[in-house]
Amino acid sequence: MTVNAETHAGTNTWQSLPAAQQPEWPDPEALRDVIAELASYPPLVFAGECDQLRARMADVAEGKAFLLQGGDCAEAFDAVGADQIRNKLKTLLQMGAVLTYAASVPVVKVGRIAGQYSKPRSKPTETRDGVTLPTYRGDSVNGFEFTAEARVPDPQRLKRMYHTSASTLNLVRAFTTGGYADLRQVHAWNQDFVKSSPSGQRYEALAREIDRALTFMAACGTDPAEFRTVEFYASHEALLLDYETALTRTDSRTGKLYDVSGHMLWIGERTRQLDGAHIEFASRIGNPIGVKLGPGTTPEEALSYIDRLDPDRVPGRLTFVVRMGADKVRDKLPTLVEKVTASGAKVVWVSDPMHGNTFEAASGHKTRRFDDVLDEVKGFFEVHHGLGTHPGGIHVELTGDDVTECVGGGDEIFVDDLHQRYETACDPRLNRSQSLDLAFLVAEMYRGQ
Ligand code: PEP
Ligand code: MN
Repeated sequence: MTVNAETHAGTNTWQSLPAAQQPEWPDPEALRDVIAELASYPPLVFAGECDQLRARMADVAEGKAFLLQGGDCAEAFDAVGADQIRNKLKTLLQMGAVLTYAASVPVVKVGRIAGQYSKPRSKPTETRDGVTLPTYRGDSVNGFEFTAEARVPDPQRLKRMYHTSASTLNLVRAFTTGGYADLRQVHAWNQDFVKSSPSGQRYEALAREIDRALTFMAACGTDPAEFRTVEFYASHEALLLDYETALTRTDSRTGKLYDVSGHMLWIGERTRQLDGAHIEFASRIGNPIGVKLGPGTTPEEALSYIDRLDPDRVPGRLTFVVRMGADKVRDKLPTLVEKVTASGAKVVWVSDPMHGNTFEAASGHKTRRFDDVLDEVKGFFEVHHGLGTHPGGIHVELTGDDVTECVGGGDEIFVDDLHQRYETACDPRLNRSQSLDLAFLVAEMYRGQ
């Protein structure tokens, strides 16, 4: 159960339901004070922006656009410098350019960013060398460091999450509307990268084609404003319901509730219980909602999510983020898609090819094979192709930095390289080169359907 923020008393129906994966805060009083303070803070995003994203997602549901959603597994308070945010954004913009141009489809860009600080865990404790401590639940809850002090949940971190999200979002808004994301910068996003990597060189060739097309259009006398800025949205897992509740406000235009901590929120694989607080919370807010669907999802569950979360069948409202594993997606996904389609509901189908493909390398590093990631997306496309439905997008964990966390890719990373630059606070991410490789391959799949 979660605390009552008293922000909209009587409407917080989710607060009396069991909420999975909530931290055990040692001092409830301190938590209440923090929540009350958060409830007085300004919104990070506007309800109108959430509605605009929902309209874009409706295009995805209709098969007229493709979703690119990506970013860290877990953002970290000490990894939100300007360079890191710019590199992440640059990677997403490059992937977006590849997908838009090579697959000739409008791309809706959504970051796992500016709020992705909370992690569900499969075990409540972690043991190292005979010492057992509470598990790390994300920078919004406790510290990554393996010490008893660091692992105590501290509600002050919730305020830090808000402020760090605010400054990240501010920089993201500046980058995406202040000239940096101008399509004429398509080469600049690649500058520090081109010589060193095969995917950088492949991107450079595509950027030259885009340049020629832009020059041609300019010569014809057209210079659309759409080329100068990029529409970019923020998303995260709605995990800590006390935080999300404090940031949930009534929209003055419509009287509806919106969670103004991010544009799109998703419910994770471990918190999607139909009788739990997370689904109830998501059913009450107007934001576009994602639900992760693992290999155990039944068609009945999928249909219940539609009834609970999208009773009015609003296009773009509900996204199913499928994370089955490369070896299961071809088996498990067809029935879900068939039954949902037969019900007449229109959801967005997105492939998360990361979370069903994690394994531990002999070195102890949690990793993923690029080939498995690719194979899961391939399976996802095959299923939709077979059923005549739309493979709506990809949801990936990536970073703009040259980390060595996933194995494989064109600029190959080997298992023995993993220790070199393994920096993630949680799951292994694709690095910039692997992300671009994936974008090129997904563009080919999209064109080939
Ligand atoms: C995640 O997206 O980082 C995550 C924990 O995913 P899932 O809920 O699908 O396991
Ligand atoms: Mn993850």
